[in-house]
Amino acid sequence: MKMNSQIDGPKVAIVGAGIAGLYCATILKSEGINVTIYDKEKEVGGRMRTSEIDGFLVDHGFHVMQTAYDEASSFIDFDALGCKSFKPGAKVIDVSDNKIRTRLMVDPWRSPIRGLLSSFNGLLSFRDQLRIASLRRRVMRGPLDGLFDGNDGTTHDYLRVRKLSDDAINRFFLPLFSGIFLESELRTSERLFRFIFRMMAKGKMVLPKNGIRAAPLAMAEKIGLDNIRLGVEIDRIENQALRFRGEAHRFDLVIKAFAEPSEGNGRDVWTVNFDAPASPIRSKHIMLNSNLHENDSIVCHVAVPSDIQPSYAPVGRSLVTATVVGDRATKMGYDSDEVIEKEVRKDLGTWFGDGTVSTWQTLCIQHISNALPETNSGQRLTNVPRNGIDPIVCGDHMLHGSVEGAFLSGKAAASSALARLNGNDTVVKGPQKKV
Ligand SMILES: Cc1cc2nc3c(=O)[nH]c(=O)nc-3n(C[C@H](O)[C@H](O)[C@H](O)COP(=O)(O)OP(=O)(O)OC[C@H]3O[C@@H](n4cnc5c(N)ncnc54)[C@H](O)[C@@H]3O)c2cc1C
Repeated sequence: MKMNSQIDGPKVAIVGAGIAGLYCATILKSEGINVTIYDKEKEVGGRMRTSEIDGFLVDHGFHVMQTAYDEASSFIDFDALGCKSFKPGAKVIDVSDNKIRTRLMVDPWRSPIRGLLSSFNGLLSFRDQLRIASLRRRVMRGPLDGLFDGNDGTTHDYLRVRKLSDDAINRFFLPLFSGIFLESELRTSERLFRFIFRMMAKGKMVLPKNGIRAAPLAMAEKIGLDNIRLGVEIDRIENQALRFRGEAHRFDLVIKAFAEPSEGNGRDVWTVNFDAPASPIRSKHIMLNSNLHENDSIVCHVAVPSDIQPSYAPVGRSLVTATVVGDRATKMGYDSDEVIEKEVRKDLGTWFGDGTVSTWQTLCIQHISNALPETNSGQRLTNVPRNGIDPIVCGDHMLHGSVEGAFLSGKAAASSALARLNGNDTVVKGPQKKV
């Protein structure tokens, strides 16, 4: 049953203004529920935030949105956010035999001519390229849910089963998927690999004009900023009450939209952001490190967000973002900003020339802990629980660490909340309007 007016409607509190909490609130509001969101931070977005530093837009860790996500893209209006896309495929840098080579890996289904040319670029054997093509066909087939059925080994084992060579795994899949899963062993569930690979093959990786924060900000505006209380840390959450600033506050229902640090959001990542006079990549691709597995280099990938969205940098400057996956840094014993910056500059100096990199100013070094939930093989990634326990919980940790995982869990929590408030088993279709 839809409530008639939000003033008379049930009062629901959501703790957490990340996209899971915001999406849950959007659905409940569209059903006439009186929603209040609380967040301990002073801005909305949770892990999808952007800082403005010396005229640059710096996202909290390199972050993109995928246009192929079903739930997220049924709601987010990428055009309204002024999104622009990276080119499909990647540049791959290879340092061996005292030579530095950069090769373009393109998706032959999207760029047939360049795909044909890149087949002969020497990075992967023809046999590996055929196997990647067959893998692509396989993950594109059938319903999306089917990707989460069947075997549930690690990504690494799955690539071996699909007969990819060590070279293809280490030099292409490792740097690409380490940067996505934020772990450098490819131990993440093969189910999540299949899902992400399909999303990459089907859609585009985009950046909004005003930074990655633009999506949660648009959601917050739609919910109404009056319904969002920022800078409020909740000390205790119960089914129908919140405790903060020494007082208890009662609601008809409370939803917890975050994970406790102890719940296994264990992956971390370092990002070093540079102010450069010019882009070192000169094409709208991400650049992968094909030597990540074999020497002491630590940069997983480099991107130049201002090549995609000029608004990320002042006129005449470029924003260069280098990503180091946390477990790789830990393995090498690097645990401070100073050491990470020094090692990143060493890698980038080898790739682009010490003279070039010495002209870059470091804008900021970010170390993001609790960046993604563990999604190792053997963990549940679908069928978000109906939240029979109190209080209702949502967040990407309930499903899988991605924008889509957060959206789907927010929707499931809204569905559970409506079922409890209405005393029935309401099925939520989700809001129809895009933000
Ligand atoms: C560096 C990085 C790169 C990423 N890149 C991608 C990508 O390219 N593509 C993709 O799909 N996904 C990516 N992700 C994952 C994606 O950002 C997350 O899956 C998603 O943002 C999670 O949203 P959430 O609402 O579940 O949690 P969160 O965003 O963590 O929100 C939880 C909120 O709860 C608040 N909170 C916690 N405790 C309290 C308390 N006691 N009181 C009040 N408030 C509280 C927090 O402040 C936070 O705002 C990336 C993540 C990171 C960190």
